[in-house]
Amino acid sequence: MTEFNAKELANPGVRNLSPYQAGKPIEEVERELGIKNIVKLASNENPLGLSAKVKAALQDTLNGLARYPDANGFYLKSKLATKFGVNANQITLGNGSNDVLELLARTFVNASHEVIFAQHAFVVYPLVTQAIGATGVAVPAKDYGHDLPAMLKAITPKTRMIFIANPNNPTGTFLSTESLAEFIAQVPSNVLVVLDEAYYEYVDEAERAPSVEWVAKYPNLIVSRTFSKAYGLAGLRAGYAISHPDIADLMNRIRQPFNMNSLSLRAAEVVLDDDKYLAESIRVNKEGMQQLVAFCEENGLNYIPSHGNFLTIEVGSEAGDMYQKLLRAGVIVRPVAGYQLPNHLRVSIGLPSENQAFIDAMKTIL
Ligand code: PMP
Repeated sequence: MTEFNAKELANPGVRNLSPYQAGKPIEEVERELGIKNIVKLASNENPLGLSAKVKAALQDTLNGLARYPDANGFYLKSKLATKFGVNANQITLGNGSNDVLELLARTFVNASHEVIFAQHAFVVYPLVTQAIGATGVAVPAKDYGHDLPAMLKAITPKTRMIFIANPNNPTGTFLSTESLAEFIAQVPSNVLVVLDEAYYEYVDEAERAPSVEWVAKYPNLIVSRTFSKAYGLAGLRAGYAISHPDIADLMNRIRQPFNMNSLSLRAAEVVLDDDKYLAESIRVNKEGMQQLVAFCEENGLNYIPSHGNFLTIEVGSEAGDMYQKLLRAGVIVRPVAGYQLPNHLRVSIGLPSENQAFIDAMKTIL
């Protein structure tokens, strides 16, 4: 009998993957360190907690949970379609936008293809690329952000997909409408451009790209968005893509029929109408960003100007050590060495008191 070796049986791309490093849950850190009232600024979550309207609606949804969800997400898609002026058949729902990104890769990319993304870009892009056995092409960043002309130059006959995060995580860098428009116009139509706008709602309205309008002009463009950030539904898992209907149709063929559950569907429908909650999310984020930026400037710390709900701060070669010290002081932030940023820490914007807890801990450590 040969010895059982799961690794040898696994797909080569999967065998060598490093698992996604999620932020540590509060409960785990509290247990490990034996401290209470931990402040978690590690996963770019919404510090406001769930919208009160969503909470109430979820109560009403509980009675129906013995039944399967609506596999087509009819109401949510209708709402999204109306909001964005597209047809419901252009929308693909996901268990978070992570699911949408993975569906896109699995639908269109195979082992013979190349997938382009930027250095320091969101980790899920290389992860899904490698899982499929495709070749990831990481284009060196420019000022921590996407170097679009270099990404254009990286296109070869093998390129099937390009991931662009705008704003990008973990750098918070942002591409202007002009530069993006120019880029998309030059990408050949047999190369799919996935524009990941997970942090879209935090961008000032005047600066937001008309990306959904572009989808009508460029059938190879897919826009992905999430309810995890400004809409505060990270734990429920709700995201979506807006694309050409043929792309949505193909993604739907491999999508798990119930990838959004009844609670997440209902929560997303309700929060989409909760303009007050969204406005409050944006306000709290803006003020928190100013609070952290002011701290950095007062203390001579470099930071990457951010358009998201987090700030990535240069703390030097002791970043790992500082992360541990912050943890022991009761503040969880995110080390980003895995993103080739060994001297930085990413701090999510919290409530004013949470941001202050981070600032106080930093002052003690510094
Ligand atoms: N894209 C980017 C750029 C992100 O930072 C994240 C969350 N960290 C996601 C997509 C995925 O978020 P979710 O699956 O919660 O929608």
